[in-house]
Amino acid sequence: MTKSEYEWNMSKSKEKKIVVANWKMNPSGIEEANEIFSAIKKSAKRAKNATVVVCPPFTYLHSAKKLYAKSNIALGAQDVFWQNSGPYTGEISPGMLKDSGAKYVIVGHSERRTLFDTDEIVCKKVGAAIRSGLVTVLCVGESARDGDGKYFQFLKEQILSSLKGLQKRHLEKLIIAYEPIWAIGKDAKNSILPRDLHEIVILIRKILSDHYKAAVASRVKILYGGSVAATNAAELLLQGNVDGFIVGRESLSKEGFDKMLGACL
Ligand code: PEP
Repeated sequence: MTKSEYEWNMSKSKEKKIVVANWKMNPSGIEEANEIFSAIKKSAKRAKNATVVVCPPFTYLHSAKKLYAKSNIALGAQDVFWQNSGPYTGEISPGMLKDSGAKYVIVGHSERRTLFDTDEIVCKKVGAAIRSGLVTVLCVGESARDGDGKYFQFLKEQILSSLKGLQKRHLEKLIIAYEPIWAIGKDAKNSILPRDLHEIVILIRKILSDHYKAAVASRVKILYGGSVAATNAAELLLQGNVDGFIVGRESLSKEGFDKMLGACL
């Protein structure tokens, strides 16, 4: 490792980590949601080295906004539409999210891509969210790995197609979350190995710096999501060289999330 790489690693390890709790369509009622909100509030108080972002279903945002008013927790949403208002039944605009207390939004999660969101739709959502001032967590990730490394090209195309039309200055509001589909959810057999994650982090920075400027690309935060828990969080952070995590299942477990946050410090 060269001296400048060492210095860069040291300064990165001191930066606050970002931990995004993606609740998906859970829990099924507001009472349970409030219990988990309160538990996360206690855990986050101790986690001075992390920015905790809770992304509940839309309908719980207002309640969380009140509960988290004087806390160090940020709120986010799990999706957004690209128009500000109009005849779009069932959709929620960036402005409505901000009004509900959200500062972050997840866009292009694989579960949404499977159901509705094409690359073109993800691109529109990313553009609208960033331009509205929401910190936008763009999810990318391959469904499976092949021996020839075709997934590297897949990732490159997925990232660049989502960022079409965005300029350097927009990257300040962008976070990229690498979420390999094979590592997400209860059917996943394994999380990723830290060295394989590190390889992807280097690839994402290279894609961004080839397309924009290296200095801008190096500031974009890169998160990892897929079966993160207390047992693997520390090594994924340190050896995988990511800036934090998206956490699904474990973010609904009061004890599990608390331990996982503890392991990040
Ligand atoms: C997710 O779906 O964003 C995720 C990271 O899920 P899990 O942590 O449950 O694998």
